[in-house]
Amino acid sequence: MTEPELTQTEPKDEQHPNPFRNLRELVDYVAGKSLPPLTAEEGRVTETLPFPFLGIVGQHEMKLALLLGLINPNIGGILLIGPRGTAKTTAVRSLLDLLPQVERSTCFYGCLPEDIEVGGIGAVCPDCAKKYGEGQSLTAPDKVRLIELPLNARIDDVVGSIDERAALHERMRIRRGILAQADRNLLYIDEINLLEDDIIDSILDAAAQGSYTVRRGPVVATYRSRFVLIGSMNPEEGRLRPQILDRFGLRVIVRGLEDVEERLEAYRRVQAYLANPREMIGQFSPEMEAAAAEIRSARERVRKVVIPDGVANPAIHLVQQMGIDSLRAEITWFESARAYAAADGRDEVTMDDLKAVASMALRLRRSQFMNEYFKGQLGEEKELNTLLTSFGKKNSAKKKPKK
Ligand SMILES: [Zn+2]
Repeated sequence: MTEPELTQTEPKDEQHPNPFRNLRELVDYVAGKSLPPLTAEEGRVTETLPFPFLGIVGQHEMKLALLLGLINPNIGGILLIGPRGTAKTTAVRSLLDLLPQVERSTCFYGCLPEDIEVGGIGAVCPDCAKKYGEGQSLTAPDKVRLIELPLNARIDDVVGSIDERAALHERMRIRRGILAQADRNLLYIDEINLLEDDIIDSILDAAAQGSYTVRRGPVVATYRSRFVLIGSMNPEEGRLRPQILDRFGLRVIVRGLEDVEERLEAYRRVQAYLANPREMIGQFSPEMEAAAAEIRSARERVRKVVIPDGVANPAIHLVQQMGIDSLRAEITWFESARAYAAADGRDEVTMDDLKAVASMALRLRRSQFMNEYFKGQLGEEKELNTLLTSFGKKNSAKKKPKK
């Protein structure tokens, strides 16, 4: 954490103590919002009327995975794999109506009380330092947003970049990136397989740690980045590296609807939504409100859900039998089973909970390369062991004929 730079390089107008760069930022500040509206390059905030989540026909596994992700953030991200036109993006956008409010910074620079706990009073902007000193809250309840990462995002857009125009304080020197804006929100990356590797890596690291640090020359800033990560990809358009695939908790294969009646029902609902979105949404609102309340209580309950050894041990055996090396397999499997039990109002995971979520936690975990690699390495290990048994036995190895 660097020292705050309090030298004033710009004349400070008493009437406008905050260095707003434009009217848009001023309007946001007055409205008590912590996030500026994003421009096309910065990402989009979807706040139009989303299609109701419960109105999506079929796609049971996708809906289940998304709900589990909302209930237990330890699941660590959800990847939706499937062709276009299978309601992936619709489903993600529709999640917003199911989420409870969160405490969010009211400061334009996103200062949080946790920043002071970690980095001292210099870790927040002067205004927030003053507020904190006076015992005022730095946060207010706000709705969860959906941040969609644009395909053309550059690394500077994602982590943030130097803002030469705002030099009042270290925190202000870095323009907050999409990752900082995604804190306490949902971050959706459509077509993740088309993103540059450095961008995917920085997003996955930030998601795993819940925070990230940006260094730009002498300026260093750390931001919170606690978000639910949802990626989607169309395998026809390119592969995703196996290391990246492994870092997503749940992997859902989204196929088109096969049942003729389901397809017809899906068509009718889309037509109804397009004709009159408010009316269509209204038809589902009692159920949506009930579901939102269920998710709220499941989020509370999941913290105390336990997995008995008798249930966990056979599960670990199964992971080993499948030849999966990554520990993420059982971590995700157990965390999603805990969410599943919580959603059912129970405090203990059963075999049935594990079965219900097994496919999405375990599929696409095996690596052909690693299997071949270990097989080859096992042969070498045996050879080495044979040599070592006779090694140092009074030159006896030399005299023995080779096997
Ligand atoms: Zn602040």
